[in-house]
Amino acid sequence: MIQAPRGTVDILPGETEKWQLLESRLRSVLSRSNYREIRLPVFEHTELFKRGVGETTDIVNKEMYTFNDKSDRSLTLRPEGTAGVVRAYLSHGFSRLSPPVKLWYCGPMFRYERPQTGRQRQFHQTGVEAFGSDGPAIDVEVIVLAVDCMHALGIEKFDVHLNSIGCNVCRPVFKEKLKEALRQHLPNLCTDCQDRFERNPLRMLDCKNGSCQQYFTDLPSSLSSLCQDCRQHFDELLRLLTLVGVPPVVNERLVRGLDYYGRTVFELISDDPRLGAQSTICAGGRYDYLMETIDGPHTPAIGWALGMERISLLLDESSNTSPLAFVVSTVSDVAVELVTKIRRAGVACDMDYPPTGTTARPFKRQLQQADKSGASWTIIRGEDEIAAGEVTLKNMADGSQTKVSVEKLIGFLQESAGKSV
Ligand code: ATP
Ligand code: MG
Repeated sequence: MIQAPRGTVDILPGETEKWQLLESRLRSVLSRSNYREIRLPVFEHTELFKRGVGETTDIVNKEMYTFNDKSDRSLTLRPEGTAGVVRAYLSHGFSRLSPPVKLWYCGPMFRYERPQTGRQRQFHQTGVEAFGSDGPAIDVEVIVLAVDCMHALGIEKFDVHLNSIGCNVCRPVFKEKLKEALRQHLPNLCTDCQDRFERNPLRMLDCKNGSCQQYFTDLPSSLSSLCQDCRQHFDELLRLLTLVGVPPVVNERLVRGLDYYGRTVFELISDDPRLGAQSTICAGGRYDYLMETIDGPHTPAIGWALGMERISLLLDESSNTSPLAFVVSTVSDVAVELVTKIRRAGVACDMDYPPTGTTARPFKRQLQQADKSGASWTIIRGEDEIAAGEVTLKNMADGSQTKVSVEKLIGFLQESAGKSV
């Protein structure tokens, strides 16, 4: 039997209802702050990610699904959403719109990683991007948006970790201080870190190799190297976050290791055991210099992406998906007609379908199906009811039965459907 590829997951009925709920709650929080959805291709030119994610990242070096198409173009399944959004922003001249331009996306991403709880090769992210404002107020909006998304899903147990990694003026100073402190440990560090030392020293702090971390305990912090503008931005952000009731944990070790990131970086971190080793449920930051990297005009921007699989691990809600009504009739034309009529009246309804042939199954068998369906009401329309222009309405909760006309039935079901939402 052919299996699904490693690192992919089938989301089955029972789970999909949870995803629909997740998606609809996120959508309503995002639209409340005037973010608008953008839907983009799942593959892009490889060049976009090389430049837009960065050649020194694990994503580009190790994790991309890259292939040549039949015309020998190098394409890559998107490993993340931001690069594509920036590409679309430029392709469609969004820089002419009055800022800020606020967008969100949701969809599958692809990374060649070792699959484990909360880590897949095809996974899903919902993300936001806000372009065109460099002030701390939009940082607050974006961070609060992530927090409110979690709250809308009933997720309360997490911390907002926050740091500032400075700008093009002060970060080079910090990088030098960091290299100075790390140089003596270089021979003891992993080969990735040795490689990062020259190319991307900030990324060393983010090393997943446990043995490196012991050398990173006493390092200078980026906060102590911030220039006056960055310091002011960070202080203002802290003040505003506290004002709106989202006091962050200042985490001086939090980094985004790429040169087009600047100032604000943040993560929502949960210690819920259901997440396994993956505690970060949402990660984001300011990427003020990215647009220039992809040949666009200087455009300050900030965004985040949350991992839908990790969020869904934290949700235990399962929703009731049974139809409200189930039609039973041994005259199959009658059942088909009535079920169609009820559905068109906006009520979730189902009926029995014989596995083979055209003849309806016996009455008793159909009643068993009605029971299995979990419907609240069974609607019986046998010969007697047809003759009387009625149906028998059976309350599946207590077994009681009443006879009503077809017209009254529709009104009754609509009302009952209204009550159950
Ligand atoms: P990690 O350190 O966990 O690999 P990352 O820094 O690569 O995360 P980002 O690129 O910032 O992650 O993506 C944002 C969010 O997307 C993560 O916080 C996580 O919730 C989710 N995510 C990232 N990679 C995966 C994956 N392979 N499977 C499932 N979710 C993921
Ligand atoms: Mg990763």
